Order: sequence, then structure tokens, then C-alpha cells
Amino acid sequence: MTGLSQTTTDELSVNRPGSTAAEEHMEEAPAFSRVFAEVLKHGPIARIDVSNRTGLSQAGVTKAVNRLIQHGLITTHDTMPSASPGRPVQPISVNEEALLAIGVTVRVNEIFGVVTTLRANVLHSVHRQLASIAVADVMESIADVVQELTDQLGADAERIIGAGIAFSGDVDREHGVVRASARLNWTHVHVRELLRDRFDFPVIVENDVRALTIAEEWFGIGVDTSSFAIVTIGAGIGCGVYVNGDVVGGAHGVAGELGHLPLAGVDAVCPCGRRGCVEAVASSSAILQSIRAAKLDPLLTMREAVELARSGDADAGFAFERAGSMIGLAMATLANLVGPSVILLAGESVTNYDLFERRVRESFDEHAFGSAAECTIVTRAHTFEDWARGSASSVIRSMVDRTLTEG
Ligand SMILES: [Zn+2]
Repeated sequence: MTGLSQTTTDELSVNRPGSTAAEEHMEEAPAFSRVFAEVLKHGPIARIDVSNRTGLSQAGVTKAVNRLIQHGLITTHDTMPSASPGRPVQPISVNEEALLAIGVTVRVNEIFGVVTTLRANVLHSVHRQLASIAVADVMESIADVVQELTDQLGADAERIIGAGIAFSGDVDREHGVVRASARLNWTHVHVRELLRDRFDFPVIVENDVRALTIAEEWFGIGVDTSSFAIVTIGAGIGCGVYVNGDVVGGAHGVAGELGHLPLAGVDAVCPCGRRGCVEAVASSSAILQSIRAAKLDPLLTMREAVELARSGDADAGFAFERAGSMIGLAMATLANLVGPSVILLAGESVTNYDLFERRVRESFDEHAFGSAAECTIVTRAHTFEDWARGSASSVIRSMVDRTLTEG
């Protein structure tokens, strides 16, 4: 391991209690971490702007920046003339390849992995089909994917600070446990424990939508706004909420379960076992089920269902429009409760968004209360690589947060 990486991982990384370096710099740690986070999100940035954004004194920023430069985590750019009269400024930015993060996302049939820089730029990616959703098989596949990524890195693998593994469902991040995943049919799987001896770096277990929200917070729409939400539509309905500078997890880590808001009436039965969930009407499988029943064709595929709807079939069109109304209602409920300035609509079903869009907007406008309706709705089709990048972002965020709390 290089001297640079060893020093920086000792100071910034996780699971190293009692390190002499960490103790020595305890008092400086919060400033160190906040400065690093600001430069990571906004660099290249002038030191004075870091001071303004963090509320730290200019002397405090300079001290933290000097230490970050010393450790090779921040680099300086050429001097530029200042916009206002005074000394020219020398912007700083994160040396993003100084440390690397692995991100993995697990779907029903497949698994995606990436290795990224500190700014979540993807260096390598790996895709594998899953042989089964049995816990042992999935753990083996995760280990294979991570191994392949570290092999691709060669000697640079020593710069890895951790691996984030994300799943859909109810995930206990603190203990590294998937409490319940309807899609994988898992309950209480101790993922971190099962992977503990496989790698030389820490493993973080995360909910997939929360991981995607962290990536957007630091490297996407969150850079310019203090409150936003992500709603994912596809096999399930997911939601990540970022308010006043933090991703909301709640006391039990399940905050933002938009798919299970009971808005759909008692006739709709959800895969979670409850009645009336948004997901029971608006997920891609619920839409397909409804069209299959109407057409008396149990083998109809999603592609065929989409074609039917686009060609003007009333039953197929109705199923998509009913889903759109439900998603708009759920989004208005979210806007009324939390008041985000932007809702990002993402997920696999966004590729068929032409079939939902009108009803989503109508329903949102009808139910959003007062100024909550000013919320901007944007759509983006995240790729699976984006989801895996989210898992890597949760590792990066954890590294910075840990430094903050240890201080
Ligand atoms: Zn449900």
C-alpha cells in the first residue's frame, strides 16, 4: 500500500478506532470533513467560497485544506483573477482518484457492480446474471463481482475504501441487515456478517433507492437544491427524500415508503400483504396483471402491453392511466408533507412515461396543496450502472460522515 493511501484511509475511513492519527486530530475532524464534502460537491471552488458555504472561518478552512493537500486528497488549480477586487483566487478540487469505492446493486435476475472515484465517476463495471435468489448464491455472486472489480484495478485496488451493496426493500443500514425484501423473498439476512471475511475493506448494506438519493445529493440535482425527492417507478415504487441538507432515513430506516401509502382502495392487494398500497396499482407488474386479466391472456408480455396501449387499446390505456393517477396522487402527498423543490421521477417504467405522463401531472396538480404545487417534476431513466454508482456514493458519504461524527 502506498504511504498516501495508508495515511488517508487511517484518518478518513471506517472501523479504525483508537488510531493515533485520528485521536491527535479529533478537534479538527469536523472542519476537515465539512471542507472535504464541500470541495467534493462543488470543486473547483475558491477557499473563500468554502468558508461561506460551511460557515467556518477562513483560517479554519485554510488549516483543513492544507492537511487535505498534504494527504493528497485535494489539489490546487492555477491562480485565477478574482471576480471582486482583491487577491487572485486559487481554486481547489478533490483529487478524485486518490481513493476508490465499489458499488453493487442486486436485482431479481442480475447483479451490477462498479468501481468509482471519489466523485462517483465509474472506472470499471461488471454485470452478472444471478443463478438464483437463494442467499448463499447471491452472496457468492456479490463476492465474484467485487473480486472481478478488484482484479481489474490491479495495484490500484489498495485505494478501495469500501464496498456498498444495495437491495430493494427494508434495509437496516446500521447493522448491515436486509430485514425484508419482497422481490428477493428474503427476511432478516445478515449481509454484512455473511460478507465479513471476504474482503479487506468495510461493507455497507444500503437500500437501493436511498443509495441513488445519496448519489443525486452529492453528484446530481442535490448540488443546487436543499430539498428534493426521487420517486422510482418499475417493478416496485421506491422513494428517497432529501430535506434541508440530509437524506431522510427515519427512526427505522424506512422513511419514504411511497409505494406502500394506502391510497389505492381496499380492492388492490399488494405483494407486501396489505391492501390499498400505491404499488398494488402502479408497479409494472400490477399494470401488466391488470391488462392480462382484461385481455384474458395470462402470457402477455410487458412489451406487448405497452404496444397495445400505444396503439389505442382502451383496456391497456386504462391500466397505465390508472397507474399514472396513483403515482401523481402519491407524489402530491409527498409534496404536501415534505415540500421538495424538485421531484425526480426515475426507474425502469420511465421509458414508457408517455403512457403515464398526462395523468401523473393532472393528478399531481389536482392534489398538491398551495405552494407545494410549485415543485418541479423532472424525469430521468437511470441505468443499472447509475444504481450501482449510488451504492458507491453511500460508501463515499459514509467515509466523510464517519470522520464528522468521530470528531
Ligand atoms: Zn404494500
